[in-house]
Amino acid sequence: MKNADNQASLIFPMVFPDPVRQAVGKIRRFYICHFRKGYLRAQLELRQGECRQCAACCRLLFSCAALGPEQLCRIYHGRRWAVCRVFPIDRRDIEDVSRAGGSCGYYFLKS
Ligand code: SF4
Repeated sequence: MKNADNQASLIFPMVFPDPVRQAVGKIRRFYICHFRKGYLRAQLELRQGECRQCAACCRLLFSCAALGPEQLCRIYHGRRWAVCRVFPIDRRDIEDVSRAGGSCGYYFLKS
């Protein structure tokens, strides 16, 4: 599965425009978060760095309704979505942020 993930990651940016890529990224994260928990756990162990609270991930494809006027999540300590709590899951998420003009504070060690 990992090779398939890597191949898709190489091909995908060349084929699809950013909004489609970001929409697929949201679906991919939802899928991984709820149905590929082993991959999720392994990825979170490889994740380094820290959140800089830039809110770039909160504006992928659309601006999240929970994002407050100071670009802070209004439900951060409450009922934040599972996909938000684990962002970024892998380097594709960091690429999504970069392609949207942001710079995530996390990075991943190579497995
Ligand atoms: S893009 Fe990265 S650094 Fe910025 S808020 Fe999201 S997780 Fe934090």
